[in-house]
Amino acid sequence: SLRHFGRIAAMLGAGAAALPFYNEPALAQLSAVAGEVSPDAVRINANENPLGPCAEACAAIHAIVQKGGRYLYEETFEFQKTMADVEGLKPDYVQPFAGSSAPLHQAVLAFTSPTRPFVTASPGYEAGERAAKFIGAKVIGVPLTSSYAHDVKAMAAASPEAGLLYVCNPNNPTGTLTPREDIEWLLANKPKGSILLLDEAYIHIAGAPMCSDLVAKDKELIILRTFSKIYGMAGIRAGAALGRPDLLQRIVPYSSGAMPVTAMAAATASLKSKNVVPERRKIIGDVRGDVLAFLEKHRFKYVPSVSNKFMVDVRRPGGEIIEAMRKENVYIGRVWPAWPTYVRVSIGTQQEMEKFKTAFLKVMA
Ligand code: PLP
Repeated sequence: SLRHFGRIAAMLGAGAAALPFYNEPALAQLSAVAGEVSPDAVRINANENPLGPCAEACAAIHAIVQKGGRYLYEETFEFQKTMADVEGLKPDYVQPFAGSSAPLHQAVLAFTSPTRPFVTASPGYEAGERAAKFIGAKVIGVPLTSSYAHDVKAMAAASPEAGLLYVCNPNNPTGTLTPREDIEWLLANKPKGSILLLDEAYIHIAGAPMCSDLVAKDKELIILRTFSKIYGMAGIRAGAALGRPDLLQRIVPYSSGAMPVTAMAAATASLKSKNVVPERRKIIGDVRGDVLAFLEKHRFKYVPSVSNKFMVDVRRPGGEIIEAMRKENVYIGRVWPAWPTYVRVSIGTQQEMEKFKTAFLKVMA
């Protein structure tokens, strides 16, 4: 449409030789040292899942790889249909993507503009904010509440012109939840013409209620799903946007091309697995419980996470501890400007977290 053409022309006019958009690995690279990372390094900086794809997903990848000379669109349709069944939606409410970064960026391009701000939490996941800044949309960061939830009242009041309200639940970086009733309140009270972008990248890990039923009710929200977290497929790349078909059609035209067939086959197999979600939720939850108990025992101040990462107060500029941990061969996450003395640490395997504990006590001493 003319509107889309105008938007794309405006973006190209912004001089985008290389799109300065950042997904989690790219952001993690930003906070990593230049040069090689040794193979035995502990990498707990990018909220990845060290367990990798489940056995069913690996089998599906192996089975399809020989047929990879074809586009195999039917694999994408099968994924779309399976996801729709799991989420209680009609297939045209599910738009497959290679991960959730693309629909996140594309939603920002579609719904914000120099006159329609992007409203987000602070601290929050930065990718959408960067996309908004790139197209000259104002970014309004709203501090989390004292219980580390999104302050939905303040977000709704942030700007009557808001184009997109971004809620990440549980939040990245804090790993904390926003109550379902707050999300419903925001949907009912958001500025006219705005859309709620609900990023549930980590929701399976928390085991909290999902909001797909609000999509089924045709509300003005888009939910992001990714296979990069509990399903352990960050490098395989699968995800989806869930929303009313007319809303999805606003974001789809900003990219094109077939989906990777290995990703589609693996994602479908993961969705059909009965065990992967409960098993991994328990494994991650146990390791998290252990490391938070360690912080408690040593009287570190931390944010009580229900996700695969936590934030801990290192009582000095966070970058100093990140650097000191690197020297111990332990790569932790980044710092958010709103909380300069906190660092984010992802949950790795128990063995990795033992190395984290040893190094952390040493550098904090
Ligand atoms: N949303 C959130 C909250 C994330 O933390 C990430 C990555 O870490 C993404 C989206 C994008 O991940 P992917 O493109 O791998 O789905």
